[in-house]
Amino acid sequence: MRELLFCSNNIHKTEEIRKMLPSGYRISSLKEAGIFTDIPETGETFEENALIKASAVKSNNHSGCFADDSGLCVEYLDDAPGVHSARYAGEHATDDENRSKLLNELKDISNRRAYFITVICLLMDENVYYFEGRIYGRIATEEKGFGGFGYDCIFIPDSYDKTFAEMTSDEKNKISHRYLALQKMMQFLKEKQNI
Ligand code: IMP
Repeated sequence: MRELLFCSNNIHKTEEIRKMLPSGYRISSLKEAGIFTDIPETGETFEENALIKASAVKSNNHSGCFADDSGLCVEYLDDAPGVHSARYAGEHATDDENRSKLLNELKDISNRRAYFITVICLLMDENVYYFEGRIYGRIATEEKGFGGFGYDCIFIPDSYDKTFAEMTSDEKNKISHRYLALQKMMQFLKEKQNI
């Protein structure tokens, strides 16, 4: 059994990943591994941030470490808020404040193209691997739906007429940026397992 360390304290993400793991792999979150640390996201790209998080913790008990970094990129705003998605309206901004700022920036703007992106960085066998997932769509003119978190209630994926927040979590998790990046990592791990 190969044990991977997921460099995150997000229980929801940990469970989501656990459900997708191929046989022969197990993961533990930082907390589960008894590691209590706050990792600063100081990178300027998703790759940098994912690498910072994945390499912040050295563990001899695991055969690999991985971390993810995500955000929303809006075409009209030259891909902002991007890596600053969590603190778009300020260092301690709430999701509500971040969304209000974004809707304000796009007031009366017809180009509302945007995408969510997740980059996963995996450190394994002395190598660094990256996996990326994106989902394209548009920013709604007002908030709709009550599910999810962050920018979910203002993001409408292509081929849909509803926001991420109007979907069930199962529905969102089958098409999301995070899911697509995870799928790529899982495929990689499966192939590695067969070598
Ligand atoms: P993280 O790197 O996954 O923590 O994501 C950083 C920020 O991007 C979050 O705080 C949210 O504002 C935004 N974000 C990332 N993924 C999603 C999503 O699936 N829905 C809504 N917002 C998201």
